[in-house]
Amino acid sequence: MAATVRFGLLVAMFQAMLRDRTAAKKRARLRALLDRAYGPGGRDDYFSALRLVLPGLDRERGSYGLKEAALASVLVDALGIAKDSPDAVRLTNWRRGGGFRNAGNFALVAAEVLQRRQGMTSGGLTIKEVNDALDLLAATENRSEKASILSSLIKKTNALEMKWLLMIILKDLKLGISEKSVFHEFHPDAEDLFNVTCDLRLVCEKLNDQSQRHKRQDIEVGKAVRPQLAMRVSNASSAWKKLHGKQVVAECKFDGDRIQIHKNGEEIHFFSRSFLDHSEYAPGMSKVIMENILVDRCILDGEMLVWDTMLNRFAEFGSNQEIECPDVAFDILYAGDTSVIHQSLTERHEILRKVVRPLKGHLEILVPTGGLNIHHPPDEPCWSILAQSLDDVEKFFKDTVDNRDEGIILKNLESKWEPGDRSGKWLKLKPDYIHAGADLDVIIIGGYYGSGRRGGEVAQFLVGLAVPSDDNSYPKRFLSFCRVGTGLSDEELDALVTKLKPHFRKNEYPKKPPRFYEVTNHSKERPDVWIESPDKSVIISITSDIRTIKSEVFAAPYSLRFPRIQRLRYDKPWHECLDVQDFVNIPPSYNLD
Ligand code: ATP
Repeated sequence: MAATVRFGLLVAMFQAMLRDRTAAKKRARLRALLDRAYGPGGRDDYFSALRLVLPGLDRERGSYGLKEAALASVLVDALGIAKDSPDAVRLTNWRRGGGFRNAGNFALVAAEVLQRRQGMTSGGLTIKEVNDALDLLAATENRSEKASILSSLIKKTNALEMKWLLMIILKDLKLGISEKSVFHEFHPDAEDLFNVTCDLRLVCEKLNDQSQRHKRQDIEVGKAVRPQLAMRVSNASSAWKKLHGKQVVAECKFDGDRIQIHKNGEEIHFFSRSFLDHSEYAPGMSKVIMENILVDRCILDGEMLVWDTMLNRFAEFGSNQEIECPDVAFDILYAGDTSVIHQSLTERHEILRKVVRPLKGHLEILVPTGGLNIHHPPDEPCWSILAQSLDDVEKFFKDTVDNRDEGIILKNLESKWEPGDRSGKWLKLKPDYIHAGADLDVIIIGGYYGSGRRGGEVAQFLVGLAVPSDDNSYPKRFLSFCRVGTGLSDEELDALVTKLKPHFRKNEYPKKPPRFYEVTNHSKERPDVWIESPDKSVIISITSDIRTIKSEVFAAPYSLRFPRIQRLRYDKPWHECLDVQDFVNIPPSYNLD
């Protein structure tokens, strides 16, 4: 019977959940669907439904390679409409408003287009058939095959069903119910089991009877574990208070990607934070792992970084030096034939020392080398210390900030490693935003359409730095510098967009910016509209995380991390825009409180 459950039932549940105000009601809908549609006889099939409710957690199918832009073009082909037809343009420019409803929500825009073609009658597709089609869609890289799969789905569904299918493909259902609530409704032990296995099928199959409790399962080599995370604290003294009386290690917060290395004999996996297996690291790293991890089976928790082979040190984030990707292991979760997450961090550091033979530039371990007073050679920065006092923490933090690192992580040395935990066993301390105020007064050179609530209107800006002119006259050229969207109230943003609107020039084919602007060819940089000339534009003050990053996306040599708009400078003439030279000369500044 389970194999015949209609996709329409799931769609009806999704639609009803959108109307429900409380999480409890949404949960009750899920329970009703599982009980009514599947019942005791269909419990083995829960996975087929839950993977469509939690598409972001389903790793069995891999990636569809279809974000909105690609999905739009495949859909245009699937519908067999001309690329320049109004509906095709509507799909491709799904963010763009111009009086259209639903701008900024791809699935709703697509539903509008589909409604005119599909009507309301469902073809009665089953959940199993939907899953089979999605398997095919993920299995092929060929765009025209993808289009023909979508085309046959369109024939068997109505517009509402197709809307939800597209949301499933985009892995964002916007249902207003958290993954935690779905898990808790499914089974009291579901979240725990998922955290240690990251395997939705296994959770659905093992826990298919709500009345049977499951013995807490430990981690296993070969199955990704949900990483333990850090809680943000605002300053060193509140961090110190939280860890009061505990033994504390302070570590540099490296700026790479979280990676979990699983070694099982000759088999090696590299799991990312979202538990995808990155086999592309294998060619470079497998030999290093085989030779320098001295046990047969183990799981390392660490950060994958970028290594500058010229300078023989960790490269700056975003740099394009000749690089390799070394791993800094800061924890160990499994060694030999046993999980070690229940042991204290001090004990795990000890195991890490025994199990890993560090290899400079390839595989390093992060274990405390002593207190701050221990001598470190000047070219060997100190990345991990045993902090004895608040002063130690402050000094270490200041050093990492001076070094332009991302911040520090404080860890309770007595704590065990907890999958998916962010309750404060690890605390992260990042430098505050520099209050750049008058310093970073940049000029708006382009705009990007927003999505969601601000769909169809410009909601973010491409800003530029001036190139100083040789003859002391007004600058004639501006380099694209960064993209910024946050910081303004709705009213401020509306007023700014209204003021700039008469000078917007759509970035349409041929995609050439006005001659004043120097930009790169990077697709992430392309704004939707340009400001026709700098003298029609507005200066804005932006602040940012203290770090500047080498930029490949923008024309200026550096860009900012996490920029935000501090205020609008309608009072400042366009030609007083900050220039590249002055920007590069700003010394690092930070606020430690
Ligand atoms: P952020 O955006 O601040 O990087 P985040 O959401 O990525 O935060 P957090 O839980 O806030 O994740 O911070 C933990 C992350 O920091 C880890 O996932 C890891 O990638 C990174 N990290 C860098 N150095 C360390 C370290 N020494 N110990 C633990 N995590 C570290």
